[in-house]
Amino acid sequence: MTMPPPVTDQDAMILLIDDDPDILMLVEAMLRPLGVRVVSAPDATAGIALADTTRPDLILLDHDLPDATGLEVLARLQAAPRLAEVPVIVVTGSERRDVLTACFSAGAADYLRKPFFGAELRARVQTVLDHRRLVAELGRAAHVDTLTGLPNRALLQRRLQGAIERARDVDGYGFAVMFLDIDRFKLINDSLGHDMGDLLLREIARRLRANLRPQDSVGRDVGGTTVARLGGDEFVVVLDDLPDGAAASSVADRLIAVLEEPYQLGQHLVRSSASVGIVHSDAGYTHAEEMLRDADIAMYEAKARGKGCHARFTPAMREAVRRRLRIETALRDALGTDQFHLVYQPIVSLETRRLEGVEALLRWRHPELGLLMPGEFIPVAEETRLILPLADRVLQMACTQFAEWQHRFPRHAPPSISVNLSRVQLADPGLVARSLAIMQQAGVDPSQVQLEVTESQLMQQRTMAMELLDGFKHHGVRLAMDDFGAGYSSLSCLQEYPFDVLKIDRALIEQVNRGRGYAALLHAVVTLAENLGLDVVAEGIERPEQLALLQGLGCTYGQGFLIDRPLEVAVLEARWRNAQWPEAA
Ligand code: C2E
Ligand code: MG
Ligand code: MG
Repeated sequence: MTMPPPVTDQDAMILLIDDDPDILMLVEAMLRPLGVRVVSAPDATAGIALADTTRPDLILLDHDLPDATGLEVLARLQAAPRLAEVPVIVVTGSERRDVLTACFSAGAADYLRKPFFGAELRARVQTVLDHRRLVAELGRAAHVDTLTGLPNRALLQRRLQGAIERARDVDGYGFAVMFLDIDRFKLINDSLGHDMGDLLLREIARRLRANLRPQDSVGRDVGGTTVARLGGDEFVVVLDDLPDGAAASSVADRLIAVLEEPYQLGQHLVRSSASVGIVHSDAGYTHAEEMLRDADIAMYEAKARGKGCHARFTPAMREAVRRRLRIETALRDALGTDQFHLVYQPIVSLETRRLEGVEALLRWRHPELGLLMPGEFIPVAEETRLILPLADRVLQMACTQFAEWQHRFPRHAPPSISVNLSRVQLADPGLVARSLAIMQQAGVDPSQVQLEVTESQLMQQRTMAMELLDGFKHHGVRLAMDDFGAGYSSLSCLQEYPFDVLKIDRALIEQVNRGRGYAALLHAVVTLAENLGLDVVAEGIERPEQLALLQGLGCTYGQGFLIDRPLEVAVLEARWRNAQWPEAA
């Protein structure tokens, strides 16, 4: 459906198709009080041509024209896409019911019998115009986002579809679609309230408009830049007449910079930014939905790269999303199965090489996807919160295994078992009680368990995490800060939380042979940790020179491929059975 423009009586135009000049004079005089404009044509051919060029709001059609009947004219109007929506009042001297019925069937909006009075004509014309105005307003409401006044998803899709068809038909024409998502919007909305959230969205809409000068007329379907709001904090920009995706990149960067300017929301000064995904029509799209989906995928990639930046869509991104979805579905099905198992990586004393502990690391063997590593499926499990039941399973498997080792290999089994915690668990108030119950059931003393959390996990859930870690500590569970040196590495974190162990990330260990600066840094970290009373474990030791350097620095414990890879249970046990391993500490 093409939408009628908004109509007021003042600018309404009425086309009279009638061969009687007296009728024309009469109609003009009668309609004058309404303030409408009247144009006229003396026969069907001229009438239809004039309708096509002027696109009137209403046609008054004489049923008995010299070159056609009213019915024939109605049929021709209905067949023309641009004219089918224009309402027609048939004017006739005929009394025959079948003629009137046929006119209504052919699409007439109303009829008027000759001779007619002024009041009658005005009433009928007014009714039809009112109806048309209402339809136009409804159409507008259905296509405009009421909060920002921008085109909404429905209108965007229509324009996008128009552009896709144009790109297919017109050589050299191309366009880009940018999908924008406002970073931290939820946080702002939740903390300052929805009114402030609305203000922010309006201001964002204003900035986008001001910077793009979009073609805003809702009735227009082809060409021009469109800025639309899809809902929530998602905006879409269609950049018209753009030869390639590279040109869109610079526009995206400009918009990101504009959206990063601070926002004054009532008394609050707020900062935000946007992540932008870009697709270009040269990939040969046929459906608006596909283009939006790919732009959305690219936007997610931009967010993953660290927000406040843009990413251009590549088919590999779509593959990654498909795989992720596949993993998500498979994960739900796998929870109740025996597809998960743990491998154990030794943690040893760097001085004596004695086994101080093992870290349980999760593996997932899927019948079709093969062996999956935690780096791939843990984030999916976290996003879907499937991590909660999965993590309970992990703790239970690790504790059961550990207890069994104590029993079967009393001289060789490690004195402690390390298990990784996820950030999602750190927001679960029932975590401590449930975990302690699992340990107790497996017959493991909490002091033999070490839980590892990373710093970035703590940053997200400060208060709750503190409470949970204190709870664990209170029951004697040992706590390790994992991956230190991989992220912010705030030393204050070490003081604030009740950690027993600091694990230095592989990234930092990798650097040590790069130069004296790095070795000095490592030395400082080791010294500081020891001064705070923390045990230090160096992670990811891969080369002998790293090991030597760490030993020289007085780092107590180590873990890494040079010492041992994560091992299957059978491998560990075979070693102990054959006494190929120095006894545990
Ligand atoms: P992490 O806790 O820092 O575990 C150490 C990771 O480094 C393990 O990877 C291990 O195989 C690897 N690694 C150890 N030594 C070396 C080395 O010398 N060189 C290299 N290149 N890598 C080494 P993995 O098993 O792939 O686990 C990755 C991450 O997944 C873990 O990092 C941990 O954050 C997470 N993860 C593993 N299992 C679990 C689990 O059961 N629950 C949760 N929440 N996270 C887990
Ligand atoms: Mg760990
Ligand atoms: Mg680590």
